[in-house]
Amino acid sequence: MGEYTFLSLETAMVEGARYSATMDLHSVDTYRRPKNLQELGDWQPTWAWLAGGTWLFTEPQSQVQTLVDMQELGWDELTVTPTGLTIGATCPMQRLISDRVPEPWIAMQALQRGVQELASFKVQTLATVAGNLCLALPAGTFAPVMVLLDAEYELWTPAGAMRRVPAQQFQTGARQTILQPGEVLRSMHIPAQSMTWATSYHRFCSASAGLAIALVTAAYDPVAQRVRFCIGASVGRPYLVQAEGIPTTAQLADLLDAQIPASAYLDDTLASAAYRRHLTQVLMARSLSDLPC
Ligand SMILES: Cc1cc2nc3c(=O)[nH]c(=O)nc-3n(C[C@H](O)[C@H](O)[C@H](O)COP(=O)(O)OP(=O)(O)OC[C@H]3O[C@@H](n4cnc5c(N)ncnc54)[C@H](O)[C@@H]3O)c2cc1C
Repeated sequence: MGEYTFLSLETAMVEGARYSATMDLHSVDTYRRPKNLQELGDWQPTWAWLAGGTWLFTEPQSQVQTLVDMQELGWDELTVTPTGLTIGATCPMQRLISDRVPEPWIAMQALQRGVQELASFKVQTLATVAGNLCLALPAGTFAPVMVLLDAEYELWTPAGAMRRVPAQQFQTGARQTILQPGEVLRSMHIPAQSMTWATSYHRFCSASAGLAIALVTAAYDPVAQRVRFCIGASVGRPYLVQAEGIPTTAQLADLLDAQIPASAYLDDTLASAAYRRHLTQVLMARSLSDLPC
């Protein structure tokens, strides 16, 4: 992130520019804050959903002329029901730490680690869980946890049509999702059963405030007596790696190579594909020793 864009973000946060008519996005001339989707009318290609704004305000968005702020839509729920945990589109990340959930839902710790591993207090307070998922960074902090826990996403079009998709199908690559123009990630639902799994979360960066180059989340399901991993950051999208039972450390390399092709690893200035593959296996071994199995 360059100095100019960092200052733009700071200004946006400090002055609450999310709600202001002036902003650093030079192509934007219209700001809308609907109370419901009916107010919006037909979605235009130059519109963008605005959630926490922590990424939107950090880069020029030359194709965007209208920001559609989601804050008044009333989608900020974090709901506990017998079927599981539902996280609304504008729920800030911080609530995953501050809100209480049933004690047996120990998988909450993986979501909380996702928040704690992410940048500053300011970003955590403004940024939304859904905004992070829609941004679809390979190093995204929540996507591997959602896939690990078999989450399901609810997507809405501005015209009101709804579809549900497994988290595993949502992110298709680096900065790529299945969202169609105007479609919004309305909420994420994690089944109650997955919330009882023991989890582990490991993230490796080559610089203290940098993007992760490998991220491994793991879960142990005590009923099925099975371990699964979800891999992020070293690859362009989250990959689920599942074991038949409880693998040994010696079996991890075969498990990994059987379920993630060598061509899936990112190879860039941050790290080579071989290094990312190696780190992934190391983090899987650490995860295995964390889990109570
Ligand atoms: C200093 C800094 C460090 C960071 N470090 C990390 C990191 O280590 N790991 C990491 O994962 N992230 C990192 N991020 C990115 C951060 O997580 C994102 O800025 C944040 O997740 C975006 O959430 P937001 O609610 O602010 O989204 P916004 O900035 O409002 O939106 C992000 C994008 O998603 C779209 N969008 C938002 N919500 C929805 C929705 N519900 N439906 C459809 N489209 C939507 C927007 O149109 C936009 O394209 C960092 C950001 C900053 C500023």
